[in-house]
Amino acid sequence: MTMTHSLFAPHALLTTGWADNVLLQWDERGRLIQVQAHSTPDTTVPTATGPVVPGLPNLHSHAFQRAFAGLTEYRGQAQDSFWSWRTLMYQFANRITPDQLLAIATWLYIEMLEAGYTSVCEFHYVHHDQNGQPYADDATLAHCLLQSARQTGMGLTLLPVLYQTSGFGATPPNDGQRRFVRTTDNMLRLLERLTPTAQAQGARLGLAPHSLRAVPPEALAAAVSGMHAIDPNARIHIHIAEQTAEVDACLAWSGQRPVEWLLNHAPVDQRWCLVHATHMTPDEYRRAALSGAVAGICPSTEANLGDGLFDMPLWRSHGGAWGVGSDSHATVNAAEELLLLEYGQRLQRQQRNVLATPDQAHVATAMTQQAVQGGAQATGRPVGGLAVGQQADFVELDARHVALAGLTATDMLSAHVFACHRTSAVQHVWVGGQPVVHNGRHALHEQAAQAFVTARHTLVAGS
Ligand SMILES: [Zn+2]
Repeated sequence: MTMTHSLFAPHALLTTGWADNVLLQWDERGRLIQVQAHSTPDTTVPTATGPVVPGLPNLHSHAFQRAFAGLTEYRGQAQDSFWSWRTLMYQFANRITPDQLLAIATWLYIEMLEAGYTSVCEFHYVHHDQNGQPYADDATLAHCLLQSARQTGMGLTLLPVLYQTSGFGATPPNDGQRRFVRTTDNMLRLLERLTPTAQAQGARLGLAPHSLRAVPPEALAAAVSGMHAIDPNARIHIHIAEQTAEVDACLAWSGQRPVEWLLNHAPVDQRWCLVHATHMTPDEYRRAALSGAVAGICPSTEANLGDGLFDMPLWRSHGGAWGVGSDSHATVNAAEELLLLEYGQRLQRQQRNVLATPDQAHVATAMTQQAVQGGAQATGRPVGGLAVGQQADFVELDARHVALAGLTATDMLSAHVFACHRTSAVQHVWVGGQPVVHNGRHALHEQAAQAFVTARHTLVAGS
């Protein structure tokens, strides 16, 4: 046993629940090789002062959108909607440069780590230069994201996005989408080329067909089977049924709703993540949950865009897996996403503690465990919490934070999620056994913040 590969936690949330006196040990690769509850305190091992909880996977991110979070909060027309927001988003997407993306993603991943996320699934769809032409190395922007994750220590599942059409029925892409478009073969070659770089840093590659609007049926089938020929276990993420307009357009095109169509035409299973899946019928809830796919819920973005509410109790009644994503980064805070998710369910049902389970009455604990498990499934990486064989990705909460001090470990996690009042109780964070956040700060915090502010200033000035 060496000092740098172990931690003694007086209280830790394991995959089996809360446990006392837990000795965590990990190997050179950062994988947990021992998770021993009821062990004897050992003065030679570093000891946590606050409760240790698993880091949360962030299963849906568009990094560049961090640069305009907060800048679309004004009314532009009589009834603002997702679609008017998208117009503004395209204006940013069409200006961003590789250096700006690097600065924005690096800062974003630092914010995520400092807020308790230890992995991210990056749904990456700006591929080409401002004129829609491939860069000399047409993986330039993907490499920026890999570099941001590498520099910050963030665990990454990179999901290059397939985007080919502007609507159902193979409508050609519009001018605002020219930086997104790749052919299916071009996408598969990109994935092959990125594989060595991704593997070298422990990142995972997957495929993101953007949506049924943006990928025609033949391309969807070819891309998914091509991805699985490269890597049979690769994850497939897709935006689906986020907006009622999308449901109506899909019905007009096919006579079927988006989730219904997908389940009828694609081999959806536990390798898939259905991002949002907001607008489903009870039968779609049942079939999608039973497929084994993860529901990718993005509570702050869905609230920000006025998407609607997912019916989590119905999803859970069918054993559905789920995780959370920060998506457009209106909020970058793992605890706050859980709070918003539970509060949405409370408001809709006029009940409290909706996502508690028969086994776990404490809703923050129950949600953390489910979001880690489902989130890990969506990443395709071994980041499923504190158990042997999983990565040593964990967070030590600040037991001296006024919202937590003097409470039991279970209540500290509740306070972290429900009563921190937008302050942070994240004290230290480890990814793959490496300390990446110390006393709430990442080592690159100051310089990355400055680079982000500069990049955003340039982007906003150009608008
Ligand atoms: Zn998204």
